[in-house]
Amino acid sequence: MKKYDVIIIGAGAAGLSAAAVALSRGRRVAILDMGNVPARKISVSGGGRCNFTNNAVAANRYFGNNPDFVRSAIARVKPNDILNWARQNNIKWTEKSPGQYFCVDGANVIVDALMHDAHGVDIWTSTVVTGVSRNLTGFLIQSDQGDFAAQSVIVATGGISFSALGVSDIGYKIAKQFGHKIIPVRPALCAIATHVFASDLSGISVDTEICVGREKIRDYMLFTHFGVGGPAIYRATVRDFNDIIINMAPDTNIFDILRRAKTSNGRKSVAGILSETLPNKLAKLICSDTGHIADYKDSELQKIAEKVNHVVIPRNDITLHGMPSAEVVRGGVDTSQISSKTMESMICPGLFFAGEVMDIAGDLGGFNLHWAWASGRVAGENA
Ligand SMILES: Cc1cc2nc3c(=O)[nH]c(=O)nc-3n(C[C@H](O)[C@H](O)[C@H](O)COP(=O)(O)OP(=O)(O)OC[C@H]3O[C@@H](n4cnc5c(N)ncnc54)[C@H](O)[C@@H]3O)c2cc1C
Repeated sequence: MKKYDVIIIGAGAAGLSAAAVALSRGRRVAILDMGNVPARKISVSGGGRCNFTNNAVAANRYFGNNPDFVRSAIARVKPNDILNWARQNNIKWTEKSPGQYFCVDGANVIVDALMHDAHGVDIWTSTVVTGVSRNLTGFLIQSDQGDFAAQSVIVATGGISFSALGVSDIGYKIAKQFGHKIIPVRPALCAIATHVFASDLSGISVDTEICVGREKIRDYMLFTHFGVGGPAIYRATVRDFNDIIINMAPDTNIFDILRRAKTSNGRKSVAGILSETLPNKLAKLICSDTGHIADYKDSELQKIAEKVNHVVIPRNDITLHGMPSAEVVRGGVDTSQISSKTMESMICPGLFFAGEVMDIAGDLGGFNLHWAWASGRVAGENA
């Protein structure tokens, strides 16, 4: 049997961060991962360019039953700490929008740097963990490559979305087995299927302002053959939402424009006026009539304007577009039974959690990887 001080289940962003820190404390560390290479999610993240942190990291960019759980870890590991780490590893970055950091030379430079930091850690790839049990000296970890023993275990098995990369629910099972509550999981940061928009708009994108509860999100929305996606919708789906209200021309009062056109440009069509603000195809779909705008009553123009400035997608017409394509999951191991200062279980000493396996999901923009780095480092400092 292979024996270690710390065994980390999962060689993703959180697991590798935890490993480097635990190693630096002189702990004998192993990581067990079912993949044939470590950190497959990092490699595909940010469209292959890995959006690895964001200056706006704060508790209000995280979602779950208790988003305040992140406070301690993100106060200890700040965006600047990650940028300094990137600098030390000669990782070049670019800001896509102010404060949103992407790798210039592809996501694998992050993986290489993490692997460099983890030099000295035994990394067991193609090793599927099947269970964990407690014994007198610590934990016994069962895998398809045999049993391992460790004083401490860090569960860093991630979420179950984007299953093409190989995911498992073992983290939830281990947590449950030791008495932890699991918050039901659902896809997040994903597209939605809805009947509100026609499928022939597929491929068109518009700048939108989306109301989700009391929050307003300004970002691009992309029409798909089944509904809508793109960053604005992704960001809506990670939040708690009911009806989603979309303004497809956030800087323009369409009713005012149509009313003015009615008097000054009466022979134009409504679609013609709308297409000065919206893509042609969308304008035509909103009003296919080729007649003169002068023939419209104000009340009719008001209704047309609402189809641009105030589109309601009712909750019962929203289907999240599935775990296989979602970037993260909402839900996971309930944080109320985990110490936010150490990431250790409050009900099973020696058992730690890090990253997406917990009931914490971050906003689009580098917040999820930041959570993985921060919670991983904290777990590594304490395991
Ligand atoms: C397409 C895509 C793009 C993304 N882009 C970004 C981005 O740009 N910025 C950002 O902040 N976030 C992004 N995310 C989210 C981010 O990648 C994740 O939140 C983050 O990687 C989670 O890290 P983690 O270490 O908790 O889990 P993971 O990275 O998922 O690692 C978990 C590891 O556990 C291993 N494992 C699971 N079960 C077992 C088992 N039974 N036995 C052994 N090993 C097991 C898995 O093989 C995996 O390597 C993206 C996600 C996706 C899917």
